[in-house]
Amino acid sequence: MLDVVACGELLIDFTPMPHPEPGKMAYEQNPGGAVANVLAALSRFHKKTAFLGAVGNDAFGRFLKQTLMDLEIGTDGLVLTDAALTTLAFVHIDASGERSFSFARNPGADTQLREADIDEEMIAQARLFHFGSLSLTHEPARSATWKAVDIAKRHKLLVSFDPNIRESLWPDMEQAKAMALHGIRQADIVKLSEEELELLAPASGLAEATEWLMETCRHQAIFVTRGKAGCYFRTEKEQGMVPGYAVDAVDTTGAGDAFLGGLLYQVLEAKQPLRSMDNDTLTRMVRFANAAGALTTTRTGAIPALPALADVERFVAENRI
Ligand code: ATP
Repeated sequence: MLDVVACGELLIDFTPMPHPEPGKMAYEQNPGGAVANVLAALSRFHKKTAFLGAVGNDAFGRFLKQTLMDLEIGTDGLVLTDAALTTLAFVHIDASGERSFSFARNPGADTQLREADIDEEMIAQARLFHFGSLSLTHEPARSATWKAVDIAKRHKLLVSFDPNIRESLWPDMEQAKAMALHGIRQADIVKLSEEELELLAPASGLAEATEWLMETCRHQAIFVTRGKAGCYFRTEKEQGMVPGYAVDAVDTTGAGDAFLGGLLYQVLEAKQPLRSMDNDTLTRMVRFANAAGALTTTRTGAIPALPALADVERFVAENRI
């Protein structure tokens, strides 16, 4: 039995490092990719997970496979392809710790997952399926992802989606929006950033835009992350704003994924479905997720910065809001 199977991207993040010589840049090689990061966060919270995706049959790909194995994330569904090189993302961090990306992906191995690589039996034995939009930008990974989503829904798994839109990876933004909205419609749990909500919803304002999303889909819950300001949540009967934690952020890479890992951990631990939870329960869950996100910003890289379960629990206990 697995807790979570996720389909999507696993890649290398090159994170900027201080260089001793003025004017020169240094980069540290870190494992990353939003969907893989979410599994890594869940694995640090002792959940049993497996990954479906492709990396290149090269030194980076082998490093990434080893990383998943070290985290005890199942790699039976990880393809090492000869069709393309492992996808690389260069991270740029500004003075406030906010980051942007330049991708080397033309095509990248993460787009090369095929429908035939999707293992129905693996998905069927999990409780929750997670996916994002990077595997929807190009074929054949797009069809492979939709196949995995269909299997998950047929086997009645909870489905979670994070659009995680990276504009430079899409041929045009209309396609990005259409694909993200289609992904949102398939999911029970949607996590998106405030900027993505503004991009996707015709209504403005958190309450109006999330109401529009709730009406268009079969969601149990929507979570809108707002950086250090925290997260707004909405279910059919509840909504609320949970403030973030004040920390010294050095690199926000992976904060959204750590947040989602924390949230899905809480969903898996809960005794009732999200749609029937009261406001206090939802607030407690989001507080835990906010703490996981905040702690991740205090170290560089995504996967190496993910906190352990005991660290998040201690942080929440010591920092009452
Ligand atoms: P991504 O685009 O990487 O998926 P995101 O935009 O969804 O990320 P953020 O909103 O940046 O994610 O962060 C997710 C959560 O992490 C926030 O809701 C917040 O709880 C926490 N967080 C992020 N940045 C900070 C920060 N600078 N200080 C404290 N907490 C933060």
